[in-house]
Amino acid sequence: MSDSVVRFDLPQSQIPRQWYNVQPDLPRPLPPVLHPGTHQPVGPDDLAPLFPMALIMQEVSQERHIDIPDEVREIYKLWRPTPLLRARRLEKALDTPAHIYYKYEGASPSGSHKLNTAAPQAYYNKAEGGHGLTTETGAGQWGTALSQACSFFGLDCEVYMVKVSYQQKPYRRVMMQTYGANVYASPSDRTQSGRAILAKNPDSTGSLGIAISEAVEMAATSGGKYKYALGSVLNHVFMHQTVIGLEAIQQLELAGEYPDVIVGCAGGGSNFAGIVLPFLPDKLKGGKDIRIIAVEPLSCPSLTRGKYAYDFGDTAGVAPMVKMYTLGHNFVPPPVHAGGLRYHGMGSIISDLYDQDIIEAQAIPQTETFQAAMTFARSEGIVPAPEPSHAIAQVIREARAAKEAGEKRVILFNLSGHGYFDMAAYEQYLSGGLTDYAQPEDEIAAAIAELPTL
Ligand SMILES: *Cc1c(COP(=O)(O)O)cnc(C)c1O
Repeated sequence: MSDSVVRFDLPQSQIPRQWYNVQPDLPRPLPPVLHPGTHQPVGPDDLAPLFPMALIMQEVSQERHIDIPDEVREIYKLWRPTPLLRARRLEKALDTPAHIYYKYEGASPSGSHKLNTAAPQAYYNKAEGGHGLTTETGAGQWGTALSQACSFFGLDCEVYMVKVSYQQKPYRRVMMQTYGANVYASPSDRTQSGRAILAKNPDSTGSLGIAISEAVEMAATSGGKYKYALGSVLNHVFMHQTVIGLEAIQQLELAGEYPDVIVGCAGGGSNFAGIVLPFLPDKLKGGKDIRIIAVEPLSCPSLTRGKYAYDFGDTAGVAPMVKMYTLGHNFVPPPVHAGGLRYHGMGSIISDLYDQDIIEAQAIPQTETFQAAMTFARSEGIVPAPEPSHAIAQVIREARAAKEAGEKRVILFNLSGHGYFDMAAYEQYLSGGLTDYAQPEDEIAAAIAELPTL
């Protein structure tokens, strides 16, 4: 009987009371973040116009565990703990001896993992007397999560949405507006960075890097009224996301298993970090032989084809410089449907772990990810977002490898969000109109050649 269980639930009392901060457990300290103008390490005062002090301190904290405020835990209760499922029907479809488990972050009210960090970011801004937050959004998942979080905590929310998404995904915009946000198509004429781009290219359809420049500029020039919120990349964001892995550890214990392989898709790295980092001490110090795999699109291969170097977080060069795997801040990826994976860089923690060969990376073409999504939808029922479909494609590769080796391997992956707002992408796939883009080597080389020199 017990071996037919497919869903491992925790009671609400088991929602983590602390986030896990990996920094004291990293094999070497992270490279400092640099000021975009002076190229000197940034201090708290440099970041204070953009972020509340609590988040600035979390960004550099060396404390292993940080308490989750009660007010944030109350919000988490709306959907956490998220379920851990064993994908028995997918295993059967693949005829694999592997045991496949997934953590379902699509269970949140915004449909992705992003609310795990949007809620605490809004909370700390409110607690420090903030009036509102500015941000950028590409596919719309982050903008939606932040709009919700701001409405929970009574903050104003100003979202710069990449123009091509603004035009193609009107329902995402309406969802953000439903939660009370103001949404602008980026590049806009509201900021200097936006106007500069429009002067050069009036038809610019925007990029995440441009939208970040606009949102940062609006916060920095607001005289303290607005601060800025980022949905990925930063250390404090990764730490907020560790609720995913902390719950998964307990749920796998209920299942009586331990992962051999952990897989997540990686745009800026936050959902991947969230499921992976709580397992890292077991690998680094506990002697556990876990393979950890970050999966990115072949069309935006920051880890697998980027360079480990200092780069700006945004296009205009107003955001701080981070040492990361990057394709260059001027890199504009082709319009693949996994909008959340179209960032030119990768968070510092994930970049440094990759540089030390502690984690692996794979780049997967778009059509393979949609094939994987179809296999998953038809066996497990959930229609996955295009982003975690990259993770599913890698899981399917791993499950086939386990079959070939004749080994029962335990595979855990993060299903970071559902795809119910991505029907246009599915329609295109189903009608045969979806193509693969591999970025030509000279285009990547050209963007990397524009990295800032220190
Ligand atoms: C934003 C997003 C991603 C990519 O961002 P990460 O910071 O790398 O997690 C992946 N999946 C979903 C569902 C997203 O909304």
